[in-house]
Amino acid sequence: MDKQTNLENAQARIAEASDQAVLADLERELLGKDGLLGQQLKEIPSLPPPERGPAGRAANELKAALTAGLLARAAELAEADLAADREGVGFDATLPAPPVERGSLHPITKVTRRLVQIFSSMGYHILDGPEVELDWYNFEALNIPADHPARDSQDTFYCGEEGRLVLRTHTSPVQVRAMERMTPPFRLVCPGKVFRHENTDATHEHTFHQMEGLVVGKDISVGHLVGTMKTLLRGIFGKEIDVRLRPGHFPFVEPGFELDARCVFCESGCRVCKGTRWIELLPCGLVHPKVLEAAGIDPSEWSGFAFGLGLSRLVMLSHGIDDVRHLLGGDLRFLEQFSC
Ligand SMILES: [Zn+2]
Repeated sequence: MDKQTNLENAQARIAEASDQAVLADLERELLGKDGLLGQQLKEIPSLPPPERGPAGRAANELKAALTAGLLARAAELAEADLAADREGVGFDATLPAPPVERGSLHPITKVTRRLVQIFSSMGYHILDGPEVELDWYNFEALNIPADHPARDSQDTFYCGEEGRLVLRTHTSPVQVRAMERMTPPFRLVCPGKVFRHENTDATHEHTFHQMEGLVVGKDISVGHLVGTMKTLLRGIFGKEIDVRLRPGHFPFVEPGFELDARCVFCESGCRVCKGTRWIELLPCGLVHPKVLEAAGIDPSEWSGFAFGLGLSRLVMLSHGIDDVRHLLGGDLRFLEQFSC
């Protein structure tokens, strides 16, 4: 029997396959080691060298033809099954429906919504701003001129011509934009995504989430700042939590602080607080007069406090997640743990 006839026979048998199981057997028979294709492949090494190339091509063509035929028949059979179902053959309207898979909110979305709720209840505006930001708003207006060392610690993605545009390295530019538009007194928070040009590891990610807060009013003091942070922590953890301030330096606040919160996971030291009973929570401080000035607010009349809350960090802390890369990795096995 010549090869053409072999192929025609095989195609005819494929066309006659009555269901998917018969078709699967046929596929094994035709494409398997001892099948039609296998026989052709086995012959190749024993052929004279000039004939091996054409024989190889012929085998490939045969494989393609058989595969296409099998796929086409499989599609026909599936279509026929479906049509039979539609006509009521094999369809039972009384069977319970298959369970519907439900999605869920990302843990960062959940914590953001909770915080927005808490700050709204304290009379804060919730603001949003551009993720591609002018250098002025991201740095200059925040008292971070071009030669300031803080620019090195915030490795920046520059984009656009002459480096005038950056992917924002923090959510603070939203505050500057807000101060330009709003007249004091005001309170606002701006949650959002920020970007750093960094190598990623368990504690560093190029994209993460922050929530910046700003209050401007008359005689705003560190006492207001501490009171607000305690309200915030009570809202998140549902109980009174002690905080402490350590001096910290950030160009846009004076004085600046690192705020630590009492570890909520232990009584005597644990992995999360590294045995210290304190968890570094956020940088904060009283707004630098130069920042108020840059936004057209008279620092002799108004003062304020600002804080930057790391949302990614907060999610990691509250769920005991040890690698920041899980958050935006898109791995469903990770995300499904938060569905409820
Ligand atoms: Zn602890």
